[in-house]
Parts: sequence; C-alpha cells; structure tokens
Amino acid sequence: MPYSRERASKGGHSDIVKNPDVIKFLDDCDYMRQPDENEAKTIAKSYTPAPSSEFQPSMVLASDASPYSQPISGKFPSTQVGYVKVSMVLIDVQKFNALIQPSSRFVDPFKVAEMHRNADAFSFALPGSNIRYKKAKSVKDGFRLAVWEQLSDDRTRFSKDSTFTIRGTLLDLGGGSVGIKKCPSCDSSMSMGGNSDKFVFTVGNEVKTCPDCGERVYLTDSLRIHEQISDYGDCTSAITRFMNAIEHLLLATFVRMLVKHQPKSLSEMAFIVDGPLAVFGQPASISFSLMALYYKVESELARRGYQPPIIIGLQKDGQVMEHARSIEPYLEPNSYRVLDDEYRNRYISPVNNNNFGYETYFGQDFIFKTNNGRIFSVAIPYPFETRSATLSFAKEKANVANYGNKLTRAFDLIRHFQLDLYENSVIPIALAHRHASISLVPGGKVLDLVTRHGLGIN
Ligand SMILES: [Zn+2]
Repeated sequence: MPYSRERASKGGHSDIVKNPDVIKFLDDCDYMRQPDENEAKTIAKSYTPAPSSEFQPSMVLASDASPYSQPISGKFPSTQVGYVKVSMVLIDVQKFNALIQPSSRFVDPFKVAEMHRNADAFSFALPGSNIRYKKAKSVKDGFRLAVWEQLSDDRTRFSKDSTFTIRGTLLDLGGGSVGIKKCPSCDSSMSMGGNSDKFVFTVGNEVKTCPDCGERVYLTDSLRIHEQISDYGDCTSAITRFMNAIEHLLLATFVRMLVKHQPKSLSEMAFIVDGPLAVFGQPASISFSLMALYYKVESELARRGYQPPIIIGLQKDGQVMEHARSIEPYLEPNSYRVLDDEYRNRYISPVNNNNFGYETYFGQDFIFKTNNGRIFSVAIPYPFETRSATLSFAKEKANVANYGNKLTRAFDLIRHFQLDLYENSVIPIALAHRHASISLVPGGKVLDLVTRHGLGIN
C-alpha cells in the first residue's frame, strides 16, 4: 500500500468544508477530530512506558502488497483488468546488523537496498469488469476460474509438498474440509442428503460440478471474493479484498510449512505484515481460522520448548494512525497503550462498538511511540484459539498480560528496524514495499502491453 507522502494531493477539499450547507450538515455528524490540548494530555496519561529486552530475531520476513486495476484501453474505460503483487523480503538480521555504523544508527541505504534482492514476488492477474476469462458464462464465473487457477498452481507453493500452497492452507484452516452453502454461479442452495453445505471440498476433491447448472465450483469460491464482481461494475474493491486475503494466506502458508519442517527456525523469526491483522469483506471468516492457526502454532512450539515467532501487523495509515499522529506530540518517548474498545469508542470510532472487529480482526492493536519519537500502530495476534462476540472476550483481548513477552519482543523489533527516512515505517516493510510497488510508469505500461497482447487487443 502507498505511503502517505505518495498520495495524490487532495487540494480543494477546504472549499467544501467551508460551504455553509456542509457546515450545517457536519453539525449533525460525529467524526474524529483533533483533540484539544487538555484532552490530548489526558489521553497521554493513560500511556505507560514500553517494556524492552535484548531480543533480536535471526530472520525477519516482511510482506507488502500492491493492487493495480485499470482500463486496458482508453477507448473502453469500463473494461478493466486487475493485478496484485505480494512481495516477501527476507532479512538476515546478523547481516543487517553488520551494515549499521557503530557510532550512529545510520544504515547505508545502498547496502540495505541490496537486501531486497532477497525477495519473492507473487503476482496474480485477474479479470475485472467486462472481461470474460476463458469463455466463461459470465465475468463472475471467469473471475472464479482465474482465482482458482492462480491459487492452486505452483506460484504459491512453498515446498515440494503440495499441502504448502494456498489451496492446502485453505483446507487446513477448515480442518481438512471446507463447505459452501450455495452455488456461486446459479445461487442454488439445494443440497443432497440433508447436508447444510451444498458443496464440501476435501484434499483431492477441490473442484465440483453444480448438479443444477452444470458449472464448475472451486474450493477457492469459499473466499467469496467473486461476489463483488459484476458484469459492468468497477472491480477495484474485489481486487483489494483478494489482495488482503492472499497476503494473509501466503504468510499462513509459510508459517505452516516452517512449523512442520523447521520449528526451531520459525521460533527465531519475526514476520511483519503491512496493515492490521484482519481480513475484510467477503473472505473475513478466514480471520477466525488464522487466529486459531497462530494459536496452535504457538502451542506446538511451546510443546517442543521453543518460544513463539513474532508476528505483527503495522499500519501506515487509517483511523488508528491518524489518531496516533494527532496525539503523538503529547506522548512520552518509549510509551504505549493497548487499544481497548472503550478507548476506540471514545477517541477513534464514530460509533460505539462493544466488541471491535469481532468478524474481521485476529490481532490486537497497540499504539507505540519509540524512543526516537516515531509512532506505530502495532497488531499482535489474539492469543486465543477461538473468539466470541462477548464482553469477556473484549476484555481478555485487551488484557496486556495475555500477550506474555510477545509485546516486549515486538517493540524490540520495531525499535531495531525503525526507519528515519520514511515516516513511521520499519526497514523490512520499506524494502518489501519497494519490491511490491507496481509503478504506473514505466512498469505499469509494460503490464498494460502484456495484458493487451494476451487479450488480442491492439
Ligand atoms: Zn449452480
């Protein structure tokens, strides 16, 4: 995702908010405002010193993704194609440390840039509006096919074992089988033999045929991303949902493979994902099983006498970061706070929420200001196997004691990799971002050409 400074100027908006009709309208709205000095000082009092230790992981894997969706020809602006590129950069911490000049915190940017060659990119091309892939019956059916093909082929395979693909991860997250209630093509929900799921996918049975319409139905349809695809609409939102889900599924696949084959290495690693630990929109239900997965991985490592890996999500923008920046001047260096629901309801969200993110989030957000004055929104997986919409869960997820020393180690990680060149980022994510960015010029031009070539349009 782009850094704040890369965003297009939003010049001109001040004229709108000065319009008398809009002023009157805003009087009737609740929204996040800059806290006044007294309020900010009160908020700051609830922050406490951030714990630290001497923790350093042996490796850091950072992931960042960029979406790209664009008309393939200026003459047909509603004919769109989408691309998603997810980059994972692996950093050897000892090698990284060797680049730090002993007298200062200065790291040679050219040497660091070389590290981003140690990266893997996962690219996906998806049909958007008005593109019918492989003569499918509709744009949506073509989209489903393209998602299936690309999530079941070798591009997401992490080892020789085909369980360690996104396809394998989906089945594993479902406990070996995944069901869907209705046909994604004809919407029929009539099922055979009193089963509440119309289709049940298991290993080796990942493609079915609908008895009512004859269309093929795929395991990956359980992600429901195609539901946002219409024959004539904009596909941007489906592409964004795809990217969000895939980034988390790739990470989960990697972690699954390591816990099986290299548990010791896994326990010494740190993983940084761009954005909150959450899956939004139609695929959101996988956030429940991702939480369970990381809980089980931690239990399995503990059983073998290893500590859990550090898995964090870092947000660059959004409501939490906007709030964090607005109070940052009032916070002591090296302080933090858990974002419990009460705090969110009072200072961040315009609506009261009894159990924030119940359907989407699998990690808890913390605001952390480093000793250097950088501010971060850090998420750590909820340390539970299941979650519920109850008040007691809302309380437990915000109980810092439940996170053990993971919070301390997450802060250590951010302190070590905080980046002075960019606002509030860490070096691994900055590298992944650089690698993932599909720049529109000239790189995007090449993608355009490839697309046109593939579709036979000149
Ligand atoms: Zn059907």
